[in-house]
Amino acid sequence: AAQEGFDAEEVESELAAAGHGPLPVLAVVGRPNVGKSTLVNRIIGRREAVVEDRPGVTRDRVTYEAEWAGRRFKVVDTGGWEQDVLGIDASVAAQAEYAIEAADAVVFVVDATVGATDTDEAVVKLLRRAGKPVVLCANKVDGPSAEADAAMLWSLGLGEPMPVSALHGRGTGDMLDEVLKALPEAPAATFGGTVGGPRRIALIGRPNVGKSSLLNKVAGEERVVVNELAGTTRDPVDELIELGGTTWKFVDTAGIRKRVHLQEGADYYASLRTAAAVEKAEVAVILIDASETISVQDQRIITMAVEAGRAMVIAFNKWDTLDEERRYYLEREIETELQQIAWAPRVNVSARTGRHMEKLVPAIETALAGWETRVPTGRLNAFLGELVSAHPHPIRGGKQPRILFGTQAGTKPPRFVLFASGFLEAGYRRFVERRLREEFGFEGTPIHLSVRVRE
Ligand code: GDP
Ligand code: GDP
Repeated sequence: AAQEGFDAEEVESELAAAGHGPLPVLAVVGRPNVGKSTLVNRIIGRREAVVEDRPGVTRDRVTYEAEWAGRRFKVVDTGGWEQDVLGIDASVAAQAEYAIEAADAVVFVVDATVGATDTDEAVVKLLRRAGKPVVLCANKVDGPSAEADAAMLWSLGLGEPMPVSALHGRGTGDMLDEVLKALPEAPAATFGGTVGGPRRIALIGRPNVGKSSLLNKVAGEERVVVNELAGTTRDPVDELIELGGTTWKFVDTAGIRKRVHLQEGADYYASLRTAAAVEKAEVAVILIDASETISVQDQRIITMAVEAGRAMVIAFNKWDTLDEERRYYLEREIETELQQIAWAPRVNVSARTGRHMEKLVPAIETALAGWETRVPTGRLNAFLGELVSAHPHPIRGGKQPRILFGTQAGTKPPRFVLFASGFLEAGYRRFVERRLREEFGFEGTPIHLSVRVRE
């Protein structure tokens, strides 16, 4: 039945698009210069140019949303890496390892004009061990004469090499068809199959904020080795820790503890690891060093968690070192720098003294509850009806766009679709989001709002 000018089919398809929930993750790995970034750009196509118009954000990103043949997924790009950090083999391997771990399927890119190198062989070993589905991309096959180069890559033992020219787009469609066959409908590495298992926490933050100290403090004696527990996946980098009577899975604790402190080029490397942890987690605990000015790097990490759509808690660490003056300035910084996540529960802790450690779990639980909140359609529309009559959209060009009805298409994080009679300005959409939060909570979770305008 038609609902105020939208036919049922339209409403359904809009809900399906908005309510997708967590997307499966594809990692693109390979040696430097084989064409990973070129390929990623090809895969994400024009979409990214539209989405990412904020300066300074694009460069640091490692995950993107993509769509092929009507299916959506995330792409992890490992192309931003700098060669001289660890030496080629170690760097490629470490990068690939993080990316593969976070992924549901992998595109392994090899330069067909060069052929398989020792480094390529090393990555193949990693791929075998990980046991994730792999699509082998024989890149730089710019024309038919280079197809023979691609065939040589059968020797890698990864199945049929897909001849591709990332630069010109040749063969990328066929390759993406293979990718779709390899990707699960729902992300198995993270959400699928773990229903009822321990909730997954990513403890993230820039170097030296105190992640390792905090982990040690909260874990105390209660640390459990994951693979000793029945029914949990064998994953050496995740750790089960009991807190507040509940068992939690801290993902990628190896990354926290290994403490390979890299100098130059370490930023990108750390971003990749953080992004991988965030993808695997349901809730991100973002640690900020309260004794220092909130930095661009802190902001970037927050953005990563928000864009991944994770529940979120902000923990200000090293509270023991703060004097009154610093506390004053910190509050001012929070007001100006962290406005966009004013909804995130905040705890002021000290990993050194143990201050307020007991507040961490309630904050995490609050954030997860917000993340999973579902508002019944009836309540939502009663709320929208009141909102629209009390605060109508400003009149534009003699017309007044109206929200006709809305529905929550999904949770984790909450996603709403509003059906409207005209374009809703960004300011009005923000207002609606603010009011939704006032009415229904959503503490600790980003919310997605999409608007469908009646043609
Ligand atoms: P990455 O380091 O693996 O991310 O590689 P890039 O995407 O930066 O590409 C490295 C170089 O290879 C660049 O100069 C690209 O223009 C070039 N390249 C990438 N794909 C192709 C391709 O399909 N054919 C040719 N001829 N060059 C390519
Ligand atoms: P990570 O790089 O984020 O894992 O940070 P670490 O846990 O290694 O901590 C970096 C430094 O900060 C170490 O010297 C810690 O002893 C110190 N540190 C961590 N937490 C606190 C805290 O709550 N108070 C104080 N004063 N120092 C801390």
